[in-house]
Amino acid sequence: MSVTPDVRILPDGRLESKLADLKPVYTDGEAIAEANRCLYCHDAPCIAACPTGIDIPTFIRKIGTENLRGSARTILSANLLGYSCARVCPVEVLCAGACVYNAWHRTPIAIGRLQRYATERLVASGGAASLLTKAPANGKRVACVGAGPASLACAGYLALEGCTVTVYEKRAVAGGLNVTGVAPYKMHAEGGLAEVAFIRSLGVEFRTGVEVGRSILPERLLKEHDAVFLGCGLGTDSALDIPGAHGEGVTGAVGWIERMKLERGFGLAEVKHAVVIGGGNTAIDAARELARLGVPDVAILYRRTEADMSGYKHELSHAREEGVRLIERATPEAFVREDGALRAVRLADGREFACELAALAIGQGSLGSLASAFAGVKTDARGRVEVEALTGRTSNPKLWVGGDATGGELVVTAVQDGKRAARSIARALGIAERDGAAMRAGAE
Ligand SMILES: Cc1cc2nc3c(=O)[nH]c(=O)nc-3n(C[C@H](O)[C@H](O)[C@H](O)COP(=O)(O)OP(=O)(O)OC[C@H]3O[C@@H](n4cnc5c(N)ncnc54)[C@H](O)[C@@H]3O)c2cc1C
Ligand code: SF4
Repeated sequence: MSVTPDVRILPDGRLESKLADLKPVYTDGEAIAEANRCLYCHDAPCIAACPTGIDIPTFIRKIGTENLRGSARTILSANLLGYSCARVCPVEVLCAGACVYNAWHRTPIAIGRLQRYATERLVASGGAASLLTKAPANGKRVACVGAGPASLACAGYLALEGCTVTVYEKRAVAGGLNVTGVAPYKMHAEGGLAEVAFIRSLGVEFRTGVEVGRSILPERLLKEHDAVFLGCGLGTDSALDIPGAHGEGVTGAVGWIERMKLERGFGLAEVKHAVVIGGGNTAIDAARELARLGVPDVAILYRRTEADMSGYKHELSHAREEGVRLIERATPEAFVREDGALRAVRLADGREFACELAALAIGQGSLGSLASAFAGVKTDARGRVEVEALTGRTSNPKLWVGGDATGGELVVTAVQDGKRAARSIARALGIAERDGAAMRAGAE
């Protein structure tokens, strides 16, 4: 991965650097051999299973004929974040899960790895922007709030349509969870930042360290722009209100992962036993990361049974291979401390598990109140923002919302939300449809 100005923001000595890439980029020979296994199916089920509708057989065929630029163009037109999606998408339950080879009990095409092969060199070298045509400036100004996948996609597509787009990000670093949250054995922060550099190279301006609602008010954003897209994701980790929960050693899982990925000198020296509380993908990721970082005893404590867990089965089975234990029907009642130091977690049924670190993966708060701070935005009885299902447009005609903020839970669904909002914004601003415009590629 080449060094871009964004990448230089990352300190040396981050714990995530110890976690190797589990699916390194293919060599030329490996990619061509795998591409040649594809049957280029008519009505390919893999395309229908991709939320962004990438024309998978076409990009694979182009790899087979050594047309890497053409292959990358096919991918990025339908999904501007096709590089990170190649690395982080749960392909087992999306495109590869739908591949016809599964029906014959044969290994499906490694679509994610081929997609990474087709895009990595161009994204890393800064050459990817040259694949896409840009419309002349149209004088329209758009703001995107948050620099995660949803906003990056919306911003990139609108910049290609000739809009002046500014992304406002409260953190010092752009990229959202692609940089702060994704498991390092799938992608290090450098990968997410290379993609931010690609979106910047399409002409998008980034203002980091700017929190909308605090550093800049919603009214001003609406006044200074023709449209605003809100891709602010979710809030902080939910807490557990039981004795001993407040103090060193008990932490939110998403917060812990962010420190592990980005903070210089953040370590695990004293941790011999760790528990992760929760049953979703964040819980499994945190447990796998702890085990792969060398913590000898890692357990996931889940309140129901394995069958009820929302985390992916294939991820849980990898966690087990790495030594992680699953403790079912585990309802924490108290954290046990000695002289303030965390020693164990006690369950409601009296079982106790030793731990010097407990990571809570029991959900994240909502940032719905930020959306409601924009005039005219309607919310339902549960405080969720009401949006038009196909576009993400709110009851304020200048505001669109998408990504995790509206209930998505994958990078690829956030990208699709950003793309759909970009199309809707373009229509609302009267921007003429161009033949071959990137944002019209792929599924509606
Ligand atoms: C630990 C973890 C691991 C994950 N792993 C995967 C994975 O492997 N594969 C996958 O597909 N999905 C994964 N996901 C889910 C995926 O990361 C999200 O679905 C996706 O990033 C959502 O994109 P988004 O743009 O909506 O939000 P985010 O990525 O959360 O980005 C939102 C951005 O908005 C910024 N922001 C918030 N409020 C403000 C404000 N007021 N002003 C300015 N900026 C603001 C935030 O700082 C953040 O940068 C994971 C999630 C977590 C928590
Ligand atoms: S379903 Fe499998 S074999 Fe068919 S086009 Fe898609 S990847 Fe190729």
